Amino acid sequence: MTVATALMPIPGLIDPVPVARPLAPRADGRVELIGMSKDAIRNALETEGLEAKQAKLRAKQLWHWIYNRGVSDFAAMTDIAKVQQPWFAERFVISRPEVIEAQVSSDGTRKWLLRTHDGNDYEMVFIPDADRGTLCVSSQVGCTLNCTFCHTGTMRLVRNLESSEIVGQVMLARDALSEWPSRPEGRMLTNIVMMGMGEPLYNFNNVRDALKIVMDGDGLGLSKRRITLSTSGVVPMMARAGAEIGVNLAVSLHSVRKEIRDEIVPLNRKYGIEQLLEACAAYPGANNARRITFEYVMLKDKNDSDADARELVRLIRKYDLPAKVNLIPFNPWPGAAYECSAPERIRAFSNIVFEAGISAPVRTPRGRDIDAACGQLKTASERQRKPREAVVAPA
Ligand code: SAH
Ligand code: SF4
Repeated sequence: MTVATALMPIPGLIDPVPVARPLAPRADGRVELIGMSKDAIRNALETEGLEAKQAKLRAKQLWHWIYNRGVSDFAAMTDIAKVQQPWFAERFVISRPEVIEAQVSSDGTRKWLLRTHDGNDYEMVFIPDADRGTLCVSSQVGCTLNCTFCHTGTMRLVRNLESSEIVGQVMLARDALSEWPSRPEGRMLTNIVMMGMGEPLYNFNNVRDALKIVMDGDGLGLSKRRITLSTSGVVPMMARAGAEIGVNLAVSLHSVRKEIRDEIVPLNRKYGIEQLLEACAAYPGANNARRITFEYVMLKDKNDSDADARELVRLIRKYDLPAKVNLIPFNPWPGAAYECSAPERIRAFSNIVFEAGISAPVRTPRGRDIDAACGQLKTASERQRKPREAVVAPA
């Protein structure tokens, strides 16, 4: 058994210390409005000197312009008097993440390389399908959890994304797809998955605050049924995720055997499979109409045998889980120690699960040619100087 020492902690065994980051002041002293709740905007306006009733009205108007119309220039806000607009512009700003690079895959998948104001890079991916469009949103720059098959897990530097940076990804996608004003029908961006870089439940507050804004009916208006949060199994935060966010849950299971899951998802040494499945059984809102998705990456000769498939079925039955299984062909990256299971192996695995009455589709890899597929996201951020407030992965 591996023992954690002060010098060599087991990855995932020590929770990263989420260093409190006060909303970083911009160089020009203005305050970013994206990512603030309606109440926070109202408070900010009061702090700047508006009286309570005015602040409430203005907050409502700002919210509409920002999240319904996609406006980022106060001068375009026609229900705010022209003479008053500069008052806002001097104090506040409505911005977007900086785009460093935008790529389009031969299958239509798009990937953006984005940069935070303090010089950290992260990625966002949009996956268009015939009947929907899914935005894959990042929650952290890098990830502390070091799953051995995941490229993001090899990034050394980790910093939580602020709620403004998480909402900012959705705003940017709406800009890119020309989807303003917000409308309930005919959108290209219909679904959001928190499946980009990072472990969303290690950045709980910011992810929750951001998703609340994304779900607000007066603004971006995405239904919680169209949002999925994926976790590698941060068990103590799962109940809160259900209660305070209430979106669909996906769990990166990837193996049903302790020795293997300990190896490939090191967080398993802290929260084991049984504990994880108990938390899934208790997840509020999970039922047959809203199933929990179990993600299962297909790694050749590691987790892909018929016996593994049968054990997966046994566990799902044992915990009586309303589940579907998403089989993800392993996406390679430079230096990865794994190979993807052969297509016939994946089919055989899928059939065993399917024949037990559990849906087990194989996820078609998307955007592999631009390294946008699951587990391929990695940026050059780690080469940059460590920002003062960064959360650092246990080395
Ligand atoms: N940290 C969260 C959210 C990231 S989701 C989580 O792990 O759930 C990204 C999904 O892609 C996860 O299920 C992850 O395990 C999977 N993944 C990671 N690397 C992969 C790879 N190389 N090939 C296929 N899937 C991978
Ligand atoms: Fe982190 Fe998820 Fe990658 Fe694991 S699979 S290293 S939890 S992003």
